[in-house]
Amino acid sequence: MTKKRVFSGIQPSGRLHIGNYVGAMRNMIALQDDYFCIYGIVDYHAMTVHFNPQEIESSILDCAIDYLAAGIDPEKSVLMVQSAVSEHTELAWILNTITPISWLLRVPTFKEKREQNPDYVNMGLLDYPVLMAADIVLYKAAVVPVGDDQLPHLELTREIVRRFNTLFGQVFPEPKAQLGEVRRILGLDGVNKMSKSLDNCIYLDDSKEEIWKKLSTAVTDVRRKRRTDPGNPEDCNIFTMHKAFSKKEDIDYCSRECQAAGIGCLDCKKILLENMYYELEPLQKKQSDLRNNRQYVLETLGDGKRKAKEIAAQTMDEVYTKLGIKTYHQ
Ligand code: SF4
Repeated sequence: MTKKRVFSGIQPSGRLHIGNYVGAMRNMIALQDDYFCIYGIVDYHAMTVHFNPQEIESSILDCAIDYLAAGIDPEKSVLMVQSAVSEHTELAWILNTITPISWLLRVPTFKEKREQNPDYVNMGLLDYPVLMAADIVLYKAAVVPVGDDQLPHLELTREIVRRFNTLFGQVFPEPKAQLGEVRRILGLDGVNKMSKSLDNCIYLDDSKEEIWKKLSTAVTDVRRKRRTDPGNPEDCNIFTMHKAFSKKEDIDYCSRECQAAGIGCLDCKKILLENMYYELEPLQKKQSDLRNNRQYVLETLGDGKRKAKEIAAQTMDEVYTKLGIKTYHQ
């Protein structure tokens, strides 16, 4: 039986942190067993905010390295760069012509980005969800792994698909959202989302010493003032990290002993460090091997481009046929 397709876009936005890893990457890696996954490094999307042309080439390569090291398997999945498959923007243009501006103006992320970058409200920022719709439907993806903040984008994609199919005839399936197991790790401050700009991250390539330096000062259950106070693991971001990285017996032990004031926060963090580094160490080894084998990474992206283009060209054939212009594309 042919596997259903999954599409997900990856922003080439620099070093990845454990929040990205737990929140998105693990799910993308797990999906590879049951679906045919197409993972696009979405550089066109990255251009909707200020970007540095001197840095984007290496950001894309680093991003590919991180995902390959984490477990994206090019034998099972397609890993490619969005701008290398020109059909993404061809289809986006066509979808633009059937998408009312009012649909785009109501997208919450546009409102947020407009407020964050009042000096750079460009057309691409408004049009971002249409390009995202094109990214997905170009491969007729049935499933899209998303965070809950991305749900309005996916709903918009489904609306655009319905409109296209009604106007021109059935081409695209309506993609469904797949909400991963939500385990949102907060930053080291225990309050905000883990984010590079807030300087509250543990990065995937941090050394064990660097991780310990960060963990040892990370905020825990704020109500636990002294070592002798019983703690509330469910209100502690360190415990959320335990649930994401630690063995069951360690999670149970830390929960029990925290509530009984049997261990201090530093003991608890040391157990976390060992579990976290147990998972990150092999990933870091692969990262370093891949950094020394740039050629392999470039070839993998080249293969991904070819495979993606093959599917994209078939879809565009159908689209041009429905639009009545196929005769001129022979
Ligand atoms: Fe958090 Fe662990 Fe301290 Fe409990 S013992 S408050 S779970 S760091």
